[in-house]
Amino acid sequence: MKIKNLFNQKRPVISFEIFPPKKSSSIDTIYKTIDGLAELKPDYISVTYGAGGSGEENKTLEIASIVKNKYNIEALAHLTCISSTKDEIDSVLRELKENNIENILALRGDLPNDPNFKFPDPLHYRYGSDLVKHIKKNGEFSIGGACYPEGHIENDNMDNDIENLIRKINYGTDFLITQLFFENNNFYKFHEDLVKKGVNIPIQAGIMPVTNKKQVERIVSLCGSYIPPKFMKIMNKYEHNKEALMEAGICYATEQIIDLLSSGIDGIHIYTMNKPEIAHRITKNIGCVVKALNEKAV
Ligand code: FAD
Repeated sequence: MKIKNLFNQKRPVISFEIFPPKKSSSIDTIYKTIDGLAELKPDYISVTYGAGGSGEENKTLEIASIVKNKYNIEALAHLTCISSTKDEIDSVLRELKENNIENILALRGDLPNDPNFKFPDPLHYRYGSDLVKHIKKNGEFSIGGACYPEGHIENDNMDNDIENLIRKINYGTDFLITQLFFENNNFYKFHEDLVKKGVNIPIQAGIMPVTNKKQVERIVSLCGSYIPPKFMKIMNKYEHNKEALMEAGICYATEQIIDLLSSGIDGIHIYTMNKPEIAHRITKNIGCVVKALNEKAV
């Protein structure tokens, strides 16, 4: 099923993100993660592609295929154009079709840490929008794109960032997933700005339950997310108490999600960090809210 059609059901779409195991681990380790997430019956599971320059690109397709063909759960395969030439993109598209995968999250990709990195040669595309255009021309996929409620870290002009996003939408993006954020008001403002500019494709909020302070520091350095004082206070207070911090992180994410769902959001995408136990806790916390919204949609 195409993910864009899931949004027609007039109920929030709930999905999870996982990443391929490190090169040193066997692909089998991912089964435990998917087993745990499958019990929660998500609308789909997305699989990252070489995120953070991990070099695990070739496992994305294999894992997306496991999700789709062994677990019968809709799969969203991430694909980046910074780490794939145009020919490689075509070969991934072919393999996705062969594996019955109909959904792609089209991304530019994280920039490598290499200080000598130069933007791609003519064999590569430079922007996510170029990849969207290419996929649109080359197959019947449902295409997702990334968006940034607090602005993309490389662009300090929000208006310009939104113009670039609108180009990506106009080239054929069917739905959006946001970068993680911890302040819902920033999302609401962003959403309102997009609606004013005529954007009407579904937007899922990307929520990351944070369970340790190092994770937050890494997130801020990678994507520049705003950390509200309320959230920072929790991190500082419990940084040396693993259990308390995990509990507080789950509660914070739960509160964010309930607020977003109550405001009528199209969907929630949980960055699970391959920890199904945390997804279980959150799903249990929001269970009644999701049930109430589903009943309303019938
Ligand atoms: P783009 O849409 O290309 O935007 C990147 C920057 O370029 C922005 O600042 C934008 O304003 C600017 N821009 C866009 N078009 C133009 C133009 N025509 N002219 C000038 N400037 C322009 N990374 C991975 O490596 N693997 C993953 O699996 C992965 N999954 C992700 C999932 C989600 C939901 C999100 C939100 C991010 C994910 N990322 C992943 C990170 C993503 O690759 C980075 O955030 C990357 O820096 C931007 O990707 P993009 O597709 O949004 O880029």
